Amino acid sequence: MSVASPRVLLRRIREALAREGDGQTRLDRIVKIVATNMVAEVCSIYLFARDGKTLELFATEGLNQASVHKASLAVGHGLVGRIAETGRPINTDDAASTPGFQFIPGTGEEVFRSFLGAPIRRQGHTLGVLVVQNQAARRYDEDEVDALELIATVIAEMTDAGALPDPTRPPVGVDARPAALTGVAAAEGVAIGKIVLHEPKIVLANPIAEDVDTERGRLREGMAALRGEVDRLIAGDGHGVGLHGPGEHRDVLDAYRMIANDRGWLRRLEAAVEQGLAAEAAVEKVQTETRARLERTADHYLRERLSDLDDLANRLLKKLLGVAPTAPDDLPDEAVLIARALGPGELLEYGQSRLRGVALEEGSTGGHAAIVARALNVPLVVGVKGLIHAAELDDPVIVDGDAGRVLLRPGADVAAAYRETLALRAAEAEQLRALRDKPALTKDGVRVSLQMNAGLLTDMASLSESGAEGVGLYRTELQYLISARAPRRDAQTVLYDQVLAAAGDRPVVFRTLDMGGDKQLPFLKGDYEENPAMGWRAIRIALDRPLLFRMQLQALLRAAGGRALAVMFPMLAEASEFERARELVQIELDRAEREGRPLPAALKIGAMLETPALAFAPRRFYEAADFISVGGNDLMSFFFAADRGNPRVQGRYDSLNCAFLRLLRLIVERCEDGGAPLSFCGEMAGKPLEAVALAAVGFRTLSMRPASVGPVKRALRAVDLGAAREALARALVVEQETARRALEAELARQGVPL
Ligand code: PEP
Ligand code: MG
Repeated sequence: MSVASPRVLLRRIREALAREGDGQTRLDRIVKIVATNMVAEVCSIYLFARDGKTLELFATEGLNQASVHKASLAVGHGLVGRIAETGRPINTDDAASTPGFQFIPGTGEEVFRSFLGAPIRRQGHTLGVLVVQNQAARRYDEDEVDALELIATVIAEMTDAGALPDPTRPPVGVDARPAALTGVAAAEGVAIGKIVLHEPKIVLANPIAEDVDTERGRLREGMAALRGEVDRLIAGDGHGVGLHGPGEHRDVLDAYRMIANDRGWLRRLEAAVEQGLAAEAAVEKVQTETRARLERTADHYLRERLSDLDDLANRLLKKLLGVAPTAPDDLPDEAVLIARALGPGELLEYGQSRLRGVALEEGSTGGHAAIVARALNVPLVVGVKGLIHAAELDDPVIVDGDAGRVLLRPGADVAAAYRETLALRAAEAEQLRALRDKPALTKDGVRVSLQMNAGLLTDMASLSESGAEGVGLYRTELQYLISARAPRRDAQTVLYDQVLAAAGDRPVVFRTLDMGGDKQLPFLKGDYEENPAMGWRAIRIALDRPLLFRMQLQALLRAAGGRALAVMFPMLAEASEFERARELVQIELDRAEREGRPLPAALKIGAMLETPALAFAPRRFYEAADFISVGGNDLMSFFFAADRGNPRVQGRYDSLNCAFLRLLRLIVERCEDGGAPLSFCGEMAGKPLEAVALAAVGFRTLSMRPASVGPVKRALRAVDLGAAREALARALVVEQETARRALEAELARQGVPL
């Protein structure tokens, strides 16, 4: 074997690092030792330059010394750039014919045919690339790849500990410069505050073990402590993971317990310690590898588990280092939470009391943390690359949840501009609060009922705050989305009971499970679908596999006992689907009666109108439905054949397009004809101009996000609806594509605040 045993190699590196010298000297020593011990003619270290986009040659043994700090290449370019981009090693005996290859001029590397490179990564963040090269054509064996990855781990740890140069990070506390990072807006609003790190930064003083037996012992103790912690969390007396609702986080914790007891994990950790790493560095190495593996998998469920694994690995690290996690109770005022990823339970635990905003390095807008953030009314930006690396505890920060930006250490003028915006918004909110208990009555005396959309128990607090008259759409699947397993019937019953209790005498419309499409449930794995939005989803699943559906109906009926209940079904395309779903409700109702359970005081069974086909359903549908609610988000999606979840076509078609308004007008007429009360519950209803258009078309009930109730009410109270209707009619007559401009002009003429 051409490689010294990893343990020997690490010992030599440790000795070399223990000697006097600055960061650069240490890097120079490392490349020498690695080249000698791996019998490589070249060993080089490339690190990210300050721009965060190019990789710079920081140290080399074997390449032209004059090119150190001069040679560089962009991420994605050349083999080194590709390793940095993908986070995966490249091993080849013929570098020049490997895809992406590119000589780095001035280094003299042309003569080296064989190439092995590994990413230098820590906690999901790539810091650089470590490379060995040989002239002879040879493929490096598995032990060599392992050894190189091991050294890359050590370099990553030492870099983060400040023992090696890290050009991308400003020295802590010194000249910390402003940084504007871009992410994706996931919950609107702006937060100004100070950084709190969900995971305090963990810095390892020494990643290389002095003594393997000691490290093995520490690892086992750490694991035992971790298992104890997970057991305590499950028993309900722990801190750090929320155990709020009926069993909703229990499932996550069960998954934690499984991972904490996973033998494979312990085996991999022990193997890394055997190679000569300190216990903490072993945890980091195994986690970095797992991360690289899971990020590549196509399995949605496995990828979701990655954050559980990260969380556990971090807990283990803290046990080993004796670091206490940030406790929700310790939050300072104006805290802005920064995390790699955050579970919905954790976010709930931090709560909204002192939390101003949240920014995540990962996460998605449809992710569960986003759902909770919106419910808590906390601005959230997700997918902010480089965030963890750049953020420092206590630094000033602005989270712009409207623009999807995070401004670290903003300059005084930027901060002042944002404070101005916040002050304006606060003044506006105050104005709107004055309207809270007034009706949405137009100038010409048309009464519109404004309701709110909800999906979590925490939303219900907004009912009286917003002045909404009821919950026009309760999205029951949100509860399912934040659970690892199907919530049990009893847990659902408790939840629905709490929702109804929170609503008091205001009505709540429960929409039965709308899963599939963009809402894939972690525990219900369907086959891969080319086009899930038009696939096996919502009522289609309910009718094909009625078990879950019936369980939900039972829970709803039980929860409502003695109170009024309204349910509606999502994504119907035909009258017969509505009829079959309604039959299932009847069966459950009969059963509840036979069992002598208290029945709902009144039961209304409605339909969501989300497909153009249903607009043209037979008349009997409009006669049979107790009410109809237009799901404008999906209806628009299918009407314009433009996927609502696809950013490339989002916003491409105007919701005030005349063709769409004609369809809505037809629905209004058919509901009037059949006698079905009608409402509208898509996003469109929450925008003042669009809400006026809907009222002008004939909708008398609109359901929207709680924060929209005020602005919509203000517009409706100021409008002469008859005149607005005439403006719309004129636009329709002259066959304009959209009625937006006509309506805008009319409302401007009337002085309606939008
Ligand atoms: C809609 O489609 O408009 C709707 C209200 O339902 P969701 O957004 O939950 O699909
Ligand atoms: Mg919908």
